[in-house]
Amino acid sequence: MSGLEDLYREIILDHYRNPRNQGELETPPAVMAEGFNPLCGDEVTVHIHVEDGVIVDVKFGGHGCSISLASASMMTTVTTGKSLSEAKDMIYSFKQMMSIHEGRLEEGSEETGSPMAGLGDLQALQGVVKFPVRIKCATLGWNTLEQCFEELDSQ
Ligand code: ZN
Repeated sequence: MSGLEDLYREIILDHYRNPRNQGELETPPAVMAEGFNPLCGDEVTVHIHVEDGVIVDVKFGGHGCSISLASASMMTTVTTGKSLSEAKDMIYSFKQMMSIHEGRLEEGSEETGSPMAGLGDLQALQGVVKFPVRIKCATLGWNTLEQCFEELDSQ
């Protein structure tokens, strides 16, 4: 299991050091939301540009711990190009992954149709569930993306 954990640590550090899709988008047409995790001091902004129900561009910014920024970076890579409903499914799956007890995750990565299917590198974050105080770090970018959707709905 330690080899896998090393790989996961590498993935998280890679996204932390080389964040994908960092920046901002012009609003409008993009919408933006800000998320804050007072437990850790993480602050994340998420900008999304949606056209015809598809997320054509996602950018994130802010500052915080490696978990919060790596998770936000991964979030942008998997949601870009997805429909709103696909992205909402991903948010749901990711939050499920972060709340499921560790023991049930052992074989999950190979199962098709499991909650984690299609999450790819995001599975690297499942180790975080062992550290409950960090779960809010990992879900911050996703909650902020959800706030963007609420912003869209209110327009
Ligand atoms: Zn944090």
